[in-house]
Amino acid sequence: MPVRSLPVAQNWDCGGCALCCRSYHVPVSVEERKRIEGQGWETDPDLKGVPFFAGEGSWLGGTEYRLNHRPDGACVFLGPDNRCRIHAKFGSAAKPLACRVYPFLLVPAGDHWRLGLRFACPAAAESSGKPLADHLSEVREYASLLEADSPVVIGAPPTPLGRGQLAPWADVLRIVTVVSKALADPADPLERRWRKVLGLIGLCRGLKFDGGGDAKKAVTGGRLSELLHVLGQAVDEETPRAAAEVPRPGWAGRVVFRQVAAVYTRKDHGAEKGTAQRGPVGRVLAAMSFARGKGRIPRVNALIPDVAFTAAEQTAGPLPEEADALLTRYYRLKVESLQFCGPTNFDLSFWDGLESLAMTFPAVMWLSRVLVAGGHPREEAVRRAVRVVDDNFGFNKLLGMGRQKFALRLLANRGELARLVAWYGR
Ligand code: SF4
Repeated sequence: MPVRSLPVAQNWDCGGCALCCRSYHVPVSVEERKRIEGQGWETDPDLKGVPFFAGEGSWLGGTEYRLNHRPDGACVFLGPDNRCRIHAKFGSAAKPLACRVYPFLLVPAGDHWRLGLRFACPAAAESSGKPLADHLSEVREYASLLEADSPVVIGAPPTPLGRGQLAPWADVLRIVTVVSKALADPADPLERRWRKVLGLIGLCRGLKFDGGGDAKKAVTGGRLSELLHVLGQAVDEETPRAAAEVPRPGWAGRVVFRQVAAVYTRKDHGAEKGTAQRGPVGRVLAAMSFARGKGRIPRVNALIPDVAFTAAEQTAGPLPEEADALLTRYYRLKVESLQFCGPTNFDLSFWDGLESLAMTFPAVMWLSRVLVAGGHPREEAVRRAVRVVDDNFGFNKLLGMGRQKFALRLLANRGELARLVAWYGR
């Protein structure tokens, strides 16, 4: 399938920081394991006696393998010069596919792949390097490898919009374009753009796009575009202009949100590993502390400074221009690449996935306030917060658990999600 680069001005080139090689557990297939075992690393003095792989029991039975890490969290193949030994000696194609693809994300969309990017990578958050479109030839190679690995992605149907709401790919992509444009609208601050998108989701959830089985009544094609336009105008009229006009989130909403913020902020291994959640007791104590929201914030990520929860509740004022541009790029790429629903985000429906993406906005704002309280300039704090939150979005298995999905629905249904967006966006 062809790969489509998306209409968002975003650049990337590897900056060589090797943070990814120090942060992630890289899964390896049987073939990749054999290939690396055949590369003769056992004769390398630095790797003599070092196990190259670690095995973990799979829930399907059997063992899943990943690249082994050194005690400091770095991959065993990362050299002292911060370069991958496999890449340096045998070239990129000799590495595991997961290493090659990162930080690109390829999401199947029926007859093509959509190209996204993980902002957990510092160079992606900074948008440094070449335009994404200039990487298409290398990304096409990864896409064909993924297709060979999992041919079912070709022609796969779209994720349902909501419960019982099925729409063809063309209509799903129509909605994607409307949401992406709404998130780019310079007439509103980003927090209001998100509140408007949440309002639109609320209206769309109750619609029967397929006309209840009657094709003549189906809301599709141009009719869908007209409807979305009208709904967009209604939402604009009904959404409070200023964040200050939106009521403060309720007590329950704030408690649930802090638990979500803890999950989005947490780092359990690698260079930025937190210290608060060591062992089961540490995890429980950290969770209790986030639920109470009093005292010092547990360091569930090494980047969290020694500050109190109250630091995150102070008004921060409008986003600096650069931070607004970064977040706008981030959200548009997530939406346009469809990396917010379906298999790339714990099988959430389209609307649920959009709401889960909206939830990252207060999480990013919450963490950026904490970082500012720790002495970081605001723009840098927002960039770091995006990196940390994106590291978890769609990947932290805790976010895919039933209780997290239930908490998100609860917050959205009660209007708490829009309140949180306004509260932490003010
Ligand atoms: S194999 Fe190379 S690219 Fe992959 S994590 Fe290890 S050092 Fe990094």
